[in-house]
Amino acid sequence: MELTRRSFLKLAGVTAAAASLTSVGYRKAAADPGERLRIRYTQEFHTICTFCGVGCGIICNVRDGVIVNAEGDPDHPVNEGTLCSKGSSISNVSYTFDEKGKPRPNPKRLTDVLYRAPGSDSYEVKDWDWALDKIARRIKESRDRTHEATAMVDGEEVTVNRTKAIGWLGSAFCTGEENYLFHKMARAIGIVSMDHCARL
Ligand code: SF4
Repeated sequence: MELTRRSFLKLAGVTAAAASLTSVGYRKAAADPGERLRIRYTQEFHTICTFCGVGCGIICNVRDGVIVNAEGDPDHPVNEGTLCSKGSSISNVSYTFDEKGKPRPNPKRLTDVLYRAPGSDSYEVKDWDWALDKIARRIKESRDRTHEATAMVDGEEVTVNRTKAIGWLGSAFCTGEENYLFHKMARAIGIVSMDHCARL
């Protein structure tokens, strides 16, 4: 086939249009223009993946409060439209779809506090107030029991005000501000062992 300047420009235009259609929820439409779009009648939200510290941009399409489609944001400078398997499946954190394509709350999602008492082989369901109270009491008890006001460093006694009995793990599910506050609180009670699941 002879490629004239005019046919080259036409071909480039068609290729660019197809490329843009394949980005946000239009993959199927590009393959089969007669097929109904999955993102039809949805609201579009731009968000950041919470699974790790890379911070990929995601476009979520929401219908009736349910994410029906999630794809990498092509305009986001971090991921430029790509997502790893965790980011691609972000909607499944809350919902799954049955065999007819209807959304239902993900049955694997834990929504209750499960507590296994020392020596027990089974979990009991507890409420959140009970859990928060239990965690606070245990932190206080461990901290008071193991607190060191001073320590010897190079033969000299220095003030440390620390506990080495408690470790603190931050989460990429929290915002930077929340993790900042966690860090301040951990330091305030003398915790020195801190890490974060998104430390890459
Ligand atoms: S989990 Fe994957 S999609 Fe999410 S921020 Fe990390 S690399 Fe990006």
